[in-house]
Amino acid sequence: MGLNSAQKEVERGILLTTVDKMSHWAQKSSVWPATFGLACCAIEMMSVTSSRYDLARFGSEAFRASPRQADLMIVAGRVSQKMAPVLRTIWEQMPEPKWVISMGACASSGGVFDNYAIIQGVDHVVPVDVYVPGCPPSPEALMFGILKLREKIQMGLPPKYQEVAMARGGAS
Ligand code: SF4
Repeated sequence: MGLNSAQKEVERGILLTTVDKMSHWAQKSSVWPATFGLACCAIEMMSVTSSRYDLARFGSEAFRASPRQADLMIVAGRVSQKMAPVLRTIWEQMPEPKWVISMGACASSGGVFDNYAIIQGVDHVVPVDVYVPGCPPSPEALMFGILKLREKIQMGLPPKYQEVAMARGGAS
């Protein structure tokens, strides 16, 4: 279909797409994070829902109190050895498809806490889709990470845990 004929169809209120593209668009437009914060990074995470940053523009301002209603885990802060099994349980309770953003140096690599009490990267506990650097990352940086995640969803790329399962030959 040429550009002119496509424009005419849009003017008539007709829009053609594929079911896949439509479902990816719906998914990326309503990614709901779990209400879950671990340390100082969580303060920056909370501010993205404020009117100044307005995460609602991207449909992700509805932080859910139950993991069963959330499809995004933002790991905001250092993960202690004690917290790791709790984090894993929350992730397992989230319905599929689900995504993980590692926010900040501590979540991604342990940050300055190179010691026995802190997990040296949350990817040892759950598969991570997007890493946001910084200590702490600014709210804008987290928003950028969420936009990158939206791009991945729109492209139809599988969540990281599905990639890992495929690499293992289908076993989860
Ligand atoms: S990355 Fe920095 S701001 Fe974030 S939890 Fe670690 S020390 Fe705190």
